[in-house]
Amino acid sequence: MPSFSNWARNHRCQPAEIVQPADEAELIALVQRARAASLSIRVVGAAHSWSDIAMSDGLLVNLDKLKGVLEFDAERDRIRVQAGIRLSDLNRELAARGRAMPILGSIVSQSVAGAIATGTHGSSRLYGNLSTFVVALRLVTGCGEVLVIEEGDERLAALRVGLGAAGIVTEVTLQVGPAFQLHEHKFALPFSQALERMQELVDTYEYVKFWWLPHTDLVEVFGYERSTQASNLSRAARWLDEHVLNRFVFPGVLWLGSRIPRWVPALNRLIARLVFVEARRVGPSDEMFTLAMPPRHLETEWALPRTAAVAALRGLRALVREQRLRVNFVQELRFVQADDSWMSPAYGRETCQMGAYCGASRSMQPYLDGAQALFRELGGRPHWGKEFDTTPAEIASLLPRAADFVRLVRELDPQNIFRNAFSDRVLGRPTEPASS
Ligand SMILES: Cc1cc2nc3c(=O)[nH]c(=O)nc-3n(C[C@H](O)[C@H](O)[C@H](O)COP(=O)(O)OP(=O)(O)OC[C@H]3O[C@@H](n4cnc5c(N)ncnc54)[C@H](O)[C@@H]3O)c2cc1C
Repeated sequence: MPSFSNWARNHRCQPAEIVQPADEAELIALVQRARAASLSIRVVGAAHSWSDIAMSDGLLVNLDKLKGVLEFDAERDRIRVQAGIRLSDLNRELAARGRAMPILGSIVSQSVAGAIATGTHGSSRLYGNLSTFVVALRLVTGCGEVLVIEEGDERLAALRVGLGAAGIVTEVTLQVGPAFQLHEHKFALPFSQALERMQELVDTYEYVKFWWLPHTDLVEVFGYERSTQASNLSRAARWLDEHVLNRFVFPGVLWLGSRIPRWVPALNRLIARLVFVEARRVGPSDEMFTLAMPPRHLETEWALPRTAAVAALRGLRALVREQRLRVNFVQELRFVQADDSWMSPAYGRETCQMGAYCGASRSMQPYLDGAQALFRELGGRPHWGKEFDTTPAEIASLLPRAADFVRLVRELDPQNIFRNAFSDRVLGRPTEPASS
């Protein structure tokens, strides 16, 4: 049996088979096969989720062969793509047409379908997560039928953030926008000033995010505005980030801190002094939104009411102090506009996303557990692609349309072939006898 693990290597599974269908007909045949043999079937995109959302002991299907652009509507700025396309390739295709995604998260290795299925987001009070740009979906249901869902169909809101539970998405149509340049202004503020000025900063910039490095009193603010200036991005600096700093230097620092935890505060202070400095640059939006791949680490991230942003950062600092933890990674605060996708963490409320991140160390699990407890207290909803432990009852209480989503999932997948341990934990175990 093949063995499979996610990017962070914190989840592993032994699928009966890993399959890459070449077209939709092959995919439908796989679904029929799973039904007939009572095998579970799950799609995996780029396996960049920290949660076990894409793990399967049945058929693990990957759509890397379904990654083409199918249609571009220049008048309406819309693009129809096959669901397996990676965000990096989508960005290239859009740039060639003078278009761009209005917002992105911090990496673009994910598949489009995987990113929207988990509510992957960037940071702006003015834009929703990536799923909010989906205007049509084509998917293969658990019955092996093809369903095309377009604007005006309520099921679009239901299935955009689909958690891989309701069907296999084969095509996605996205509303995009004109290509644009961004001017980045990053600067450090003392912790208390960053909290005092947070509202003002969030209102000032079109895109803004905050990084706090534990054991330091510094918060780095990243503010972005559209710009007509020419790009001044340094290829050499990006190369250095990707091939030297994030590949060797930061992993080395994490390793050192895990061996000698008492050094973590001093190492963090050194990094803050070197990295949390004022700088400005201009470049194409997709390059400005994204970062070099970070070293491996674990994350839990929750969507909180926007008004809880200050309490979230304060709470994390208190957690580190009170439990005498040694936390070796930046903590990230971002903002997302409210939306109407039933399973979106930003459903119906203006949101801030607080991410608690930590590299392998003795402090890692107590920190992530403490952060989850804090985020729960603050009314948080988990990010589906990150680590969390909730019960189906808790999810139902956090997301008003969760029960409707479960009903729709059972309708589209009556034999529960898309079920896995994650869906049992989040949506509940199906009452019908199901494949496993
Ligand atoms: C270094 C790093 C940085 C990250 N940065 C951000 C960030 O800035 N913002 C953010 O919000 N998240 C971020 N994430 C999380 C990441 O965006 C999500 O976990 C995303 O879902 C990963 O996409 P994927 O293609 O790897 O999907 P997978 O992890 O492979 O799958 C995720 C879910 O999508 C489902 N799925 C995949 N393809 C299909 C399909 N064709 N049809 C139906 N379901 C499908 C899977 O079944 C699974 O349920 C980051 C992750 C990493 C590792």
